[in-house]
Amino acid sequence: MTECAVCGAPMRPSQLVCAYCGAAGRVFENVEQELEALRELSAAAQKLGAKGDDVSTELLGRMGFGTSSRERISSFWRNAFVPRTVDGLEHAVLMAIGLLSTGAWQSTWHQPTKQANQAILDRLTALESALRIAASREPEAQRRCTTIRDEIALARTNLRSAHVKGALFYAALMLGMLSLLGCMGLLAVAIGGLSL
Ligand SMILES: [Zn+2]
Repeated sequence: MTECAVCGAPMRPSQLVCAYCGAAGRVFENVEQELEALRELSAAAQKLGAKGDDVSTELLGRMGFGTSSRERISSFWRNAFVPRTVDGLEHAVLMAIGLLSTGAWQSTWHQPTKQANQAILDRLTALESALRIAASREPEAQRRCTTIRDEIALARTNLRSAHVKGALFYAALMLGMLSLLGCMGLLAVAIGGLSL
């Protein structure tokens, strides 16, 4: 057993990323290792998102991480390792975009969904900076990096339009309720008038 350099959680020698904070357990030498680490990251995130076992809850509490699964998953994505290669980055970006919830109502008014989305957006920002660095390091990959960054921009736009829809739904709901109340008021007045 070794220890995670970031959070101190125990790590098996075969583990590529920390199952608790998502940090890399070693320096990855090639794309294959990065992709494997991303797979491990995704599995660890799924496990954290499910109701956590008591041991990890206690351990994370002691390490200063939030103990609700929502808080855990947020700190996990803020801390998760960022690949260095363009292939790894592309994979990580697609993975993060796939985790965004773009349901109009949920993403606008459901607090836990909003919080989870924010953590993913922060990760996308981190991946975006890494893409910029990768593009300056490998000029031949510049075009591909731009395409991947366009994907991130598109995901952000989709989320924004979901928020607009969510706000419109809410306004329509309020308007509906108000007009219902208005009708009921009118009816009450009419009934009152009749009974006089
Ligand atoms: Zn860790």
